[in-house]
Amino acid sequence: MTTLTLQHNFLFLDNFGHSLRAPSYVFKPTHSDEILEAFRLARRMGLSVTARGAGRSYNDAALNGGGIVLDLSGMNHILKWNPASGLVTAEPGVTLQQLWQHVEPDGWWPPVVSGTMLTTLGGCLAANIHGKNNFKVGPIGEHVIEFTALLPTGAKVTCSPKKNADLFYAMISGLGMLGVFISITLQMKRIYSGLLEISARPSHDLHEHLTDLLENAPDSDYIVGWLDAMVGGRALGRGQIHAARYLREGEDPHPEKTMQLKNQSLPSRIFGVFPKSILYVFMRPFMNNIGTWAVNTGKYIASLPRDTFRESHAAFHFLLDYVPNFELAYGRGGLIEYQSFLPKETAEAAWSEMIRLSLARGLPSYLGVTKRHRPDKFLLSHAVDGFSLAMDFKVTDSNRTKLSQMLQEFDHIVLDAGGRFYFAKNSETTLESAERFLGAKTIAEFKKLKKRCDPDGLLESNLYRRVFG
Ligand SMILES: Cc1cc2nc3c(=O)[nH]c(=O)nc-3n(C[C@H](O)[C@H](O)[C@H](O)COP(=O)(O)OP(=O)(O)OC[C@H]3O[C@@H](n4cnc5c(N)ncnc54)[C@H](O)[C@@H]3O)c2cc1C
Repeated sequence: MTTLTLQHNFLFLDNFGHSLRAPSYVFKPTHSDEILEAFRLARRMGLSVTARGAGRSYNDAALNGGGIVLDLSGMNHILKWNPASGLVTAEPGVTLQQLWQHVEPDGWWPPVVSGTMLTTLGGCLAANIHGKNNFKVGPIGEHVIEFTALLPTGAKVTCSPKKNADLFYAMISGLGMLGVFISITLQMKRIYSGLLEISARPSHDLHEHLTDLLENAPDSDYIVGWLDAMVGGRALGRGQIHAARYLREGEDPHPEKTMQLKNQSLPSRIFGVFPKSILYVFMRPFMNNIGTWAVNTGKYIASLPRDTFRESHAAFHFLLDYVPNFELAYGRGGLIEYQSFLPKETAEAAWSEMIRLSLARGLPSYLGVTKRHRPDKFLLSHAVDGFSLAMDFKVTDSNRTKLSQMLQEFDHIVLDAGGRFYFAKNSETTLESAERFLGAKTIAEFKKLKKRCDPDGLLESNLYRRVFG
């Protein structure tokens, strides 16, 4: 990429949910020098630059209409792995899938993972992802030993909680707006089995659902809820809780077997026959209000008996990868995910109001997922001492405007209840909303660091323009 030009690189990129689309000049660097060259080209042409990992953000975080997008998936080497200490150093385009498959056979697991293994480490740090263990171990940033980032000025900075600490806490969560991660060192978590022990039980309403998450999180390593947002009345908030714990040393008689990759992989065929890659096509006819109500009701009834079982780490964590391209089942308009984070004291009332509103408007969420969280000290933090609820909405040509209006009403409910939003998910959050939950001081601090790292304002995404203007 020594003589970069804009020709032949013009592409339309989508968000994960295929509800947004932006044309950009896309470059795929394989070395940090090529990132630097893209910065020079951008400056020459008066264009902005956005880093992109796997493009799994539900919103416009990795889109840059009319500008340059750096597809970092080609910088995907694991540079160092120490199976004695569990320390790994990797390039930013390494996916969670590559990472867990590299470390698990040696008895380690990534400390924090997203619901899909297809995300990259760069994207995970930029959003500061949380897992189903957020209440216990915090976001991924708390497990970063150090990272090196390339700034638009051409400087390389290495940051840790002790070195350049202000940049460490701002770049992790900073949505790639201060610099581009080029190398990341993470501490893995020791495991003694390839299996987790799962307890599955139903929750009959929202109060029971949130009480279960709150009371049982301390005794679990992971906890997550499925919430059926298609029903109101006394059953509003019903669903199922899955709590999981690591097996202690000695509990698994054959850890060397259960940690083998072949015992972790998700099956590629259903009933051993049908390729899963086409399953989304069969899901399409059910992706409407009646079809989803029927599927959810069946799922809820099936979840009524309590159960305890052992399951592989990959199967527990990456449920959403079971159906490749599940987002395509939503059809042409795609989907939007709305994830709100609410303090434990206000969550029940706020989410009851939001679910009732969505049902009254005929715009129910087809998938609801709850988690338990705790606060963290990253600058653009989305976490609270409470819970999150992620809600997936189908987008169509006819409901797009109504849906957008409803999600803006949700924003008011969440903010009035002292809540926060996650920048990798929501598509509606505005500067006013961000100022309310982050505070003007935090935003001013972020902008000050931006001036320092990126004085010409080269790094911009559609999300940056929407929220930070
Ligand atoms: C099915 C599914 C399940 C998910 N589950 C979870 C979950 O459980 N928890 C959770 O927290 N999130 C979850 N997410 C969201 C996802 O983890 C985040 O959006 C993550 O940022 C996506 O990583 P990516 O590599 O695709 O990054 P992209 O979407 O490509 O980019 C995300 C952000 O990172 C920036 N970026 C990318 N690479 C770099 C780099 N090298 N340097 C600097 N900035 C960079 C981009 O500019 C952008 O702002 C889920 C997403 C999907 C699709």
